[in-house]
Amino acid sequence: MAYKILVLKGDGIGPEVIGEALQVLKIVARQSAIDLEFHEALVGGHAIDTHGKPLPEEVLKQGQESDAVLLGAVGGPKWDNTKGGPRPEQALLGLRAGLGLFANVRPVRTLRELIPSSPLRPEIINGVDFIVLRELTGGIYFGKPSERRESSSGREAVDTCLYSEAEIRRIVKFGFELARDRRKHLTSVDKANILSTSRLWREVAMEVAADYKEVTLEHQLVDSMAMHLIRRPRDFDVIVTENLFGDILTDEASVLAGSMGMLPSASLGEEMNGAGFRIGMYEPIHGTAPDIAGRDEANPLAAILSAAMLLEHSLGMRSEAESIVKAVEGVLHEGYRTKDIQGSVAGAKLVGCKAMGRLVRERLESQESDS
Ligand code: NAD
Repeated sequence: MAYKILVLKGDGIGPEVIGEALQVLKIVARQSAIDLEFHEALVGGHAIDTHGKPLPEEVLKQGQESDAVLLGAVGGPKWDNTKGGPRPEQALLGLRAGLGLFANVRPVRTLRELIPSSPLRPEIINGVDFIVLRELTGGIYFGKPSERRESSSGREAVDTCLYSEAEIRRIVKFGFELARDRRKHLTSVDKANILSTSRLWREVAMEVAADYKEVTLEHQLVDSMAMHLIRRPRDFDVIVTENLFGDILTDEASVLAGSMGMLPSASLGEEMNGAGFRIGMYEPIHGTAPDIAGRDEANPLAAILSAAMLLEHSLGMRSEAESIVKAVEGVLHEGYRTKDIQGSVAGAKLVGCKAMGRLVRERLESQESDS
C-alpha cells in the first residue's frame, strides 16, 4: 500500500528541520519496505510571495487527499503586517479547519540526557511525562467577530471566544481516552471563575467524566496551572484545555523538555485515512525562528519526533516510531547537542541541524543492522 504524505516545509527554519525529518522517513520507508509518496507544496509566507495567499486551495485539497501532512512552521518578519493583508498564520488555521483537526496532542517528556540543559532543578523535572491536549478549532482563534474598527474614541479591536457543547465534549472525551491508556489522571484547565466559555467547559467535563469512572478528573484554573506546571510537573498525566490556554501552556512546558526544538505535536481529526487511522498533521511546536534561520543552527529533533508521531498515529507504525525515538535518545546519550540544548554540560558535542539529522539517521541504520 502506498501512503500519501503532503510535506509543507513553510518558512524560516521550517525547510531546514523538515528536510531532516523527511530523510528520516525515507530511511524508515526503506527499512520497512513501505511505499511513502511525498508531495511538497508551499504554505505561509512563501505561498503569499508566490501565489498571493498563505494557503492556496489546491494545497488544502492535496492535504485532504493525503494520509498525513508533515508541516514545518510559517511566518516571519517579512510578512508581519497588521493592515488586513494575508498573513502566513492563516495557513495554519485554514489547514486545521479544512482538515477538521480538532485535537492537538503534545507529549512532554524530560529526557535524562537533557536535564542539565533545563533552567529547572533536576529533582523537579526528572521523570516528567505528560501530554497536553489542546482544542484546536474553536475558542478565540476562530470566534467572530474578530476585527479592528474605528469608534468615536479611536481605534478598537475585538476577538470573540465561542465554544459549543459538542466541541468541548469531543476534546474532553479524547482526553479521557488518552488518560485511560496511561496513568488514568486527567487535568482539565479553564478559567471558570471569570469566563462563561470556561464554566460551560467545566460543566461538560464533569458530565463526560461519568463515562470514565476509572480516570480521576481534576480542574485547574489556567493561571495557577501555569505555576503548577513548573513547580510540580511530574504530577500531571493528561492535561486537556482550550485553544488559547493550550497554546500558551505548551510553550511553557517546552522548558521542561529542554527546548522548543525538542517538542513534537500531532493534530488529529475524526476522519480516517485509507489505512484506517486518523488523518493528522504533524509539526514541531516551535515557530520559524527567524533569528537562526539559514544558519544551520536549528534543532531538527522536534521535527524528527513529529515524523515519528506521524508513523504512529496516521500509519499505525508504532514500532517504527519507537525506533526513531530510540535513535534520538541514543544520539543525545552520546553527547551530541544543537546550540539550544547545549546547556552547561561539560563535554557536549555541539552540532548543527544537518549533522544532528545525519546522526539520527546513522543511528537508525545501525539499530537496523543490530536487530
Ligand atoms: P519561535 O518558536 O520561532 O522562536 C522562539 C525562540 O526559540 C527563538 O529564539 C528561536 O531561535 C528558538 N527556537 C525555536 N525553534 C528552535 C529550534 N528548532 N532550534 C533551536 N532554537 C529554536 O517563536 P517566535 O520567535 O515567537 O516566532 C517566530 C515566527 O514564527 C513568527 O512569525 C511566528 O508567528 C511564527 N510561529 C509560527 C508557528 C507555526 O507555524 N506553528 C508557531 C509559533 C510561531
